Amino acid sequence: MNRRDFLKQAVVVGATLSTSSLNAFAFGPRSLERRGATKKVIIIGAGLAGLSAAYELTQAGHDVTVIEARTRPGGRVHTLRDPFPDGLYAEAGAARIPNHHHFTLKYVELFGLTLDPFEPTSLPSVYHVRGKRIRVTPGQRVEWPYDLTAEERTLGINGMRQKYIWSILGEVGDVTDPNWPPPDVLRKYDQMNRSDFWRSRGASPEAVALLSVGGIDDRVETWSTLFMLRNQALNRKLNRYYKIRGGNDLLPKAFAVRLSEKIHYAAPVVRIEQSAQAVKAVFLRAGAYHTLAGDYLICAVPFTVQKNIEVAPAFSVEKQRAIEQLPYLSASKIFLQSKRRFWAAEGQSGFAKTDLPISQVWDVTYKQPSKRGILQAFPISLHSRRVTGMTEQERINFALDQVEMIYPSMREHFEGGVTKCWDEDEWARGVGAYYKPGQFSSLLPHVARPEGRIHFAGEHTSVWIDAWMQGALESGNRVAREVNSAL
Ligand SMILES: Cc1cc2nc3c(=O)[nH]c(=O)nc-3n(C[C@H](O)[C@H](O)[C@H](O)COP(=O)(O)OP(=O)(O)OC[C@H]3O[C@@H](n4cnc5c(N)ncnc54)[C@H](O)[C@@H]3O)c2cc1C
Repeated sequence: MNRRDFLKQAVVVGATLSTSSLNAFAFGPRSLERRGATKKVIIIGAGLAGLSAAYELTQAGHDVTVIEARTRPGGRVHTLRDPFPDGLYAEAGAARIPNHHHFTLKYVELFGLTLDPFEPTSLPSVYHVRGKRIRVTPGQRVEWPYDLTAEERTLGINGMRQKYIWSILGEVGDVTDPNWPPPDVLRKYDQMNRSDFWRSRGASPEAVALLSVGGIDDRVETWSTLFMLRNQALNRKLNRYYKIRGGNDLLPKAFAVRLSEKIHYAAPVVRIEQSAQAVKAVFLRAGAYHTLAGDYLICAVPFTVQKNIEVAPAFSVEKQRAIEQLPYLSASKIFLQSKRRFWAAEGQSGFAKTDLPISQVWDVTYKQPSKRGILQAFPISLHSRRVTGMTEQERINFALDQVEMIYPSMREHFEGGVTKCWDEDEWARGVGAYYKPGQFSSLLPHVARPEGRIHFAGEHTSVWIDAWMQGALESGNRVAREVNSAL
């Protein structure tokens, strides 16, 4: 079946979603036409970056082999099913699909997958801040327990975001332009962290604290303001989240089915080599080393684990520095199974943002049948690293104690829990890449740049970084174009 047949057969998404968003970006997904002779391409990693590159190159007639360390496709897209009863499932990795993520939506549509809304947007959710539990009903004004200025009180959270962040996005330029950022923008914003930026825009210290709830604490982990502004510019069209009915891993599985025997599983690559004429990958499989030769090689693995692959001859110093220094965010998910969705019965969404160590709470079973439900706690950064050091039972108690403050009676309804800490995942070692102040200037130009016959994909190489499937898919399309047109 060819691409056009797929598109004809594609089931229109279950949720109200306009596919006109697919045309909203000039650099959107396009199919490849093969240039020159068939190339033999080796791809390391069957995450969405490697899979989409393999799919696009195969469609164009190239000869592709994917080598994957795990026994499954999808990498950081991983749906947990076994631990839960009644057919319930939860996303250990990627959970939300924003309405404007045109690469993700394109493949969802291409493979005939169905979307559901991610969360109930009309029900109240909870903020737990400064020791207070505040029920927030969409559209209603909130009295925040923060010493905000009179103007900030009137503006509210979105008004402050508009004033302190969104109003200057025009100044940042077109973040999707390959030549972005312009030197003046780079100089002005790369060295600054987020809090300093907000303060420079007039935000009070209390507004900075409120705007940080449910996200990174700048005092612990600093992000380049330019990184934050680029993400904000890309997300201006974000107004809703979706998820794939049946589990987000249906997306990587849909690629994998179409690539079938081209993927070798349980085969970690340990060494790559290149000469002027060819590339080689050495991988372990069933206790023995194997070597595969090709014309081009695509590394579609996070830099956290790329650094464990031996390279001969060594990459340029700039690339080695980028691989060593690009930081990754730590995040963990703790799933608490409840015998009944008591929050929904009380007219609450099951979602919360907090200044507690668990950061956020999500009802990951929204729209799934069963009277049971699962609430997810989502510690990030320093708190995630602390959780990673705990035993499974300690992690669950840690989450239960805090979720009980947000949704009282969680303990009474609790049936069991399961956790996933991405720092201890051997083939990921983190959630997603980010840039610290100054790193846009020093690392960005070297992250995605090819080294001879070796090319790079993965969310960390995309403009859609910040831990999105969209970044992986965009990079897979970009690298497929690169290899297709390489001479
Ligand atoms: C907790 C969490 C929450 C997230 N939330 C969202 C979300 O809500 N929405 C969203 O869109 N995205 C989200 N993401 C981000 C999204 O999952 C990733 O950006 C995307 O899946 C990355 O794909 P990738 O192909 O770049 O990398 P990966 O998925 O990491 O794929 C790399 C592959 O390479 C393999 N590999 C590694 N080393 C080797 C080796 N030596 N040899 C062979 N194979 C190797 C790995 O096993 C893996 O399969 C989240 C991620 C996490 C972890």
